[in-house]
Order: sequence, then C-alpha cells, then structure tokens
Amino acid sequence: MSNFDYDLFVIGGGSGGVRAARVAAATGANVGLAEEFRMGGTCVIRGCVPKKLMVFASEYQEMFADARAYGWDVQDGTFNWPSFRTNLASELDRLEAVYRKLLVGSGVAIHDSRTTVTGTHEVALSDGTKFSVKHILVATGGRPVLPDIKNSELGITSNNIFLLPELPKKILIVGGGYIASEFACILNGLSVEVTQFYRGEQILRGFDDEARGLVSEMMIEKGVNLQLGMNVLEMEKYDDGICVKCTNGSEKIYDQVMFATGRTPNTDGLGLEAVGVEVGLSKEVMVDDYSQTKVPSIYAIGDVTNRVQLTPVAIREGMAFVETVFKGNPTKIDHALIPSAIFTQPEMGTVGLSEEDARQQEAIEVYATSFRPLQTAFANRPDRVLMKLVVSKTTRKVLGCHIVSPNAGEMIQLAGIAIKMGATKEQFDATCAVHPTISEELVTMRDPVRTA
Ligand code: NDP
Repeated sequence: MSNFDYDLFVIGGGSGGVRAARVAAATGANVGLAEEFRMGGTCVIRGCVPKKLMVFASEYQEMFADARAYGWDVQDGTFNWPSFRTNLASELDRLEAVYRKLLVGSGVAIHDSRTTVTGTHEVALSDGTKFSVKHILVATGGRPVLPDIKNSELGITSNNIFLLPELPKKILIVGGGYIASEFACILNGLSVEVTQFYRGEQILRGFDDEARGLVSEMMIEKGVNLQLGMNVLEMEKYDDGICVKCTNGSEKIYDQVMFATGRTPNTDGLGLEAVGVEVGLSKEVMVDDYSQTKVPSIYAIGDVTNRVQLTPVAIREGMAFVETVFKGNPTKIDHALIPSAIFTQPEMGTVGLSEEDARQQEAIEVYATSFRPLQTAFANRPDRVLMKLVVSKTTRKVLGCHIVSPNAGEMIQLAGIAIKMGATKEQFDATCAVHPTISEELVTMRDPVRTA
C-alpha cells in the first residue's frame, strides 16, 4: 500500500492527460484526474473535433454544383448555422460523456475542479481539499492569445467560434498558421465573406514552399480575400461592426475579427515555480526527454510543454510517461517524422523535410507533379493537386512528402509509415500503383523535376 492518497494525480482532462491517467490506472496505480472545464480538453471541446465537423459542413457548398455536373437534379442549399451548432453541441456532449465513462471504467477518480500544485508531492483542489500524491502529471494544455494591438479584445479566438449565436456576414481572420488558414476556408465554405491578413510573405510558414503556395493560390481561387504582408494596427467598436485600421493605412468594417495568432501554455497560477519546476519564457513547463521536470515527482506532457502542439503527440508523450514511471521501461519521446495535416481547402498533408530545409542539409532530388484530379475536373472545377517527394541523393531515402489534395490527411498517414521506416525512392517505385487514384502518383513519378 502506498502512503500517498494517489500514486498519480493528473491535472488536465485533455487528450494527453486522459490517456496517461487511463493507462497508468491499468497498471494498478491509484489515479486521480482534475479538470476545471469540460473533459476532453482543447482537441475534443474547442479544437480538432469541432473544427473537423465544421470542415465537413463547409465542404457541402461545392458539392451541389459537382452533383449537377454528375447528372443530379439538385439546387444550391443554404446553410443553417443554428441547426448545425445544435447538432455540434450534442455531439460534443456525447464525446465528453465517452471520455468520462472511459476514465471511470478505468478506475480513475475524477475531480471537476481547478487544481494547483502546493508541494512536490501535494495538490490542492479549488475548495481547499489537499491530496498527497506520489507523482504529478501536468497536462493543462494551452490557450489562444490575443496580440498586443489596441482593442484586440474586440476580436474573438478559435475558442469562441463554435459558440457564436450567428455567423458573421463579413469576418477578418488574422494570422497565417494552421488555425487561421483552416478557419478562413471553413467560413468561406459556409458563405461568410472572409478576409485573411498575414503579416509575412506566404501563409503556413515552415511548410514546403510549393505546397503552401498551392494552398494559398487555391484559397484565393475559392474566394478567400487573402492579404499578405498585412496586419491590424488598431480596432474600434462602431455601431455597425468593428472598424479595423490596417498597416497599409486603409480602414474597413467587419462584423467579427478572429485572431489566430498563436497559443500559449496554461501555466499561470498553477504553483509550479514555487515548488521548483522550471517554466520557460513562453510560459512552457521545461521537461527532459522523459517529460520529467527539474522536480523528480513532477512530469508534464502536451501543449503545456510547447514541444509539438498536436493531439497525437500529447497522447504519445502520455504513454511514454506511463512506460517510464509505471512500467519500469524508461521511454524517450520520438518527435522525428511526425506526419500532420492542415485541413484547409484544399487539404495539405506533410511529413519530413520541406524542399527548402532538405536543401540546407544535403544533396537532394525533387519529384513532383501537379494536375487537375479526375473527380473535380469532370465538374469543371479548377482545383489542382500536388504530390511531392524530396529524396536524398546519397541514401535515396525519402526525406519529405508533401501532398495538397482532397483527403491529403488520410494519404499522409499511410505515406508516413513508409517514410518513418526509412523507405527509399526505389522502394516507393517498387510498389504497384492503385489506379485510378490521386495517390498513385506517389509511386509513379519517374524523373526528378529538380536536383539541388
Ligand atoms: P501558429 O503558431 O501556427 O500560427 C500563428 C500565426 O499568427 C502565424 O502565422 C504568425 O505569424 C501569426 N502571428 C503571431 N503573432 C502575430 C501578431 N502579433 N500579429 C499578426 N500575426 C501574428 O498558431 P495557430 O494558433 O494557428 O496554431 C497553434 C498550434 O496548434 C499549431 O502550431 C499546431 O501545432 C496546432 N494546430 C494543429 C492543427 C492540425 O494539426 N490540423 C490545427 C490547428 C492547430 P508568423 O508566421 O509571422 O510568426
């Protein structure tokens, strides 16, 4: 019997925290988990899941015209936001209940409370109840931040977008990352007039230039008013909306302004520094390769550590933590070659090095093809796809794969397996094509378009 109230206390009921709690409890550990808001965290409640459902909703707009091209007698429909929002809310209630049920079924004690760390082996709930705990796992995630712009609090963030009573007619989205670009496409698909400001030269900084170039070109083609090299100077509330003064001196009124200008780790007021945990300049919990902080009994995983802000990464960090601490099998987290998808329209899937990063590293060959896919070309849509492989000249290994296409997220998951295994270009070529598909191009590109 342990002398502690809990062997493990997890603070935060998001994807990482819930998985770690369940897997630790399955080893026989006595586990408690506290969540101050809704079980499921950012991904389930105000992130990936509701976002993906909005992507699905927004994709129907183009399908009416496509269906007519394919011979169906259908008229364009109109989108009813309140009806979608009600269905979305019930789906999120259902998912939250599933998360709770899984925790309870695993024997984890749930505390619906904000919790702070009051000692190296002690946590306190907001009602003052204290527990002695052998290990603490901080999995409190992150939150969107508003930029330091006059009256930026007039704007909303991705946290509020799912709860709007009505959709705006005209929205300005500020930022050029995942969230800004995804919501620009979603809202454009839901017939909102979308302007997107990005302060740099091209959206999706850090991704392959050719791939992000095509995404941005297609976004503009589909109706997003994307303005590059542009930012907000200040904002003011007017009777008929929010007046935005821009860096080029122009002014325009929007019904809503959404900032997607980055996220910050949730460490404020947790009591971490007081017990000796190191917190970095971006408010992130500093951890080693095993997710352990400077205080041996305190670990942290997921967005609060500001390593790679992705749900599956938080889950893997949680599993590695349990292997290390509860299964006697010290496991480092492998952050190499993480595939990911950006759910813009068109979607982008990516794994490994961009052409630009690979060029810095070694001699490469680039295999790429861009074309109009059968399904949408038939409906006379201008949509183009891009399939691209970046290959090492010396080892022949595929260093990076970049796909801009419908279902690019599904494709990159599978290509990611081969690339993680170290597959060479010749091994890609030795795989027989599946015809007629878009992804068959990944195994049929014979000659490099560039070498560097
Ligand atoms: P990102 O860090 O990806 O993007 C922030 C954007 O805001 C950048 O374009 C940045 O510009 C810009 N920016 C920052 N500060 C300012 C400012 N003061 N004024 C104007 N623009 C500014 O953050 P997101 O919020 O989009 O996403 C956070 C994380 O969430 C991502 O990194 C990703 O890991 C995760 N995520 C993943 C998704 C997925 O897997 N599909 C979906 C959504 C989120 P600059 O480039 O110049 O710095």
